[in-house]
Amino acid sequence: MIKAVRGTRDLLPPDTALWNYVEGVVRDVFRAYNFQEIRTPIFEETTLFARGVGEETDIVSKEMYTWEDRGRAESDRGQSLTLRPEATAGIVRAYIEHKMGDRGLNKFYCIGPMFRRERPQKGRYRQFYQIDAEVIGPPSSGSESPARDAEILEMLATLLDRLGISDWNLELNSVGCPNDRAAFNEALRKALEPVVEHMCVDCQRRAVTNPLRVLDCKVPADQPIIEKLPRISQFLDEPCRTHFEAVQAILKAVGVEFHINDRLVRGLDYYTRTAFEFTHGALGAQNAILGGGRYDGLSEALGGPAAPGIGFAIGEDRLILSLQEKIPADSVLPRPQAYIAPLGAGMNGEAARLARELRRHDLVIELGDETFRLKKSFEAATRAGAKYILIVGENEVKAGTFALKNLATGEQVSVPRAELISKIRA
Ligand code: AMP
Repeated sequence: MIKAVRGTRDLLPPDTALWNYVEGVVRDVFRAYNFQEIRTPIFEETTLFARGVGEETDIVSKEMYTWEDRGRAESDRGQSLTLRPEATAGIVRAYIEHKMGDRGLNKFYCIGPMFRRERPQKGRYRQFYQIDAEVIGPPSSGSESPARDAEILEMLATLLDRLGISDWNLELNSVGCPNDRAAFNEALRKALEPVVEHMCVDCQRRAVTNPLRVLDCKVPADQPIIEKLPRISQFLDEPCRTHFEAVQAILKAVGVEFHINDRLVRGLDYYTRTAFEFTHGALGAQNAILGGGRYDGLSEALGGPAAPGIGFAIGEDRLILSLQEKIPADSVLPRPQAYIAPLGAGMNGEAARLARELRRHDLVIELGDETFRLKKSFEAATRAGAKYILIVGENEVKAGTFALKNLATGEQVSVPRAELISKIRA
């Protein structure tokens, strides 16, 4: 038997109803904050991620689905392509390619699958879904302002509250600018020198290539060493410190609670200044529902103009996991308002006509088959979760009145055709 590939999964009804519900709420919130949808390709040139996310990150060094394209055309052959492991690099590529900075400040969002070859476990998949939003524009558009950071964070708080996830925790940090990072990396390198031989092999490599990434290490035995390393907060220059303080001041003004966590550096190289994560207790080990931050140099790193930006990615799979107990999928699944049961030979056409009319009035209708006996129609209507069953037999069609039975209460009434819509809707 052929099964779904390890780390991928089928999203089935009724669960997909919860996914749609969540995406509906998300789109409503994005609309209120004037974000617009962008859809970029699911695969891109490998170089984009290598340059955008960072060669030394776990994502690029070991988790990407990369292949060499074997097209017929000379131009396709040998091109290295990668399934997108995250959305920001592709969005910034599109921003540069379409010169979107000419429009001033851009506020994008995007919902879709991402791919990383990680060890699958609950809340961690190889194909997973992210809800992503980005604010990006030329410096003259105010894209660098702490007001944009605070707006994004406040929007996320609103979004989680609206979904009924009230026990979230916002962890906030500033990872500074490239200058601060150079000094910090140097300090880390020094601090690591005498201790790194006691750390995991990954950290031994990172200590040489990109010491900052040591802070991403999840190996328990390494944690006491990491705990004693210098902190980025000691290396922020004056503009970065002022920016960070301004973000915090706005958050306080709007009443969004946060915790400063100066260990938070996030697993992507492009972050500058504000970095954040929202966590949620119910998720256990994979407790980060979303993460994000500022990436003021990313556009330039990809060969584009100066375009400061800030964004985030919500792990939709994890968001759904934390919602599943609060919002049973059944409660948001649209159920048929009526099941139309054609009764007797030749009734399929009449039933289809009636169904067409009711559906055009936006009613949710399920349609049976004239070969079903009444008992089987009742069973099918009950299984479909219909509110009413509507019998369409020869007598009903002649008389122009139909038997409408409420499946929950058992109450049955005879309804003239003209009143069916209002009766079913009521
Ligand atoms: P990142 O793009 O690494 O900043 O991740 C942003 C969010 O995506 C995380 O907080 C997770 O909620 C989610 N996420 C990342 N990797 C996975 C994965 N393999 N499976 C499910 N969710 C993920």
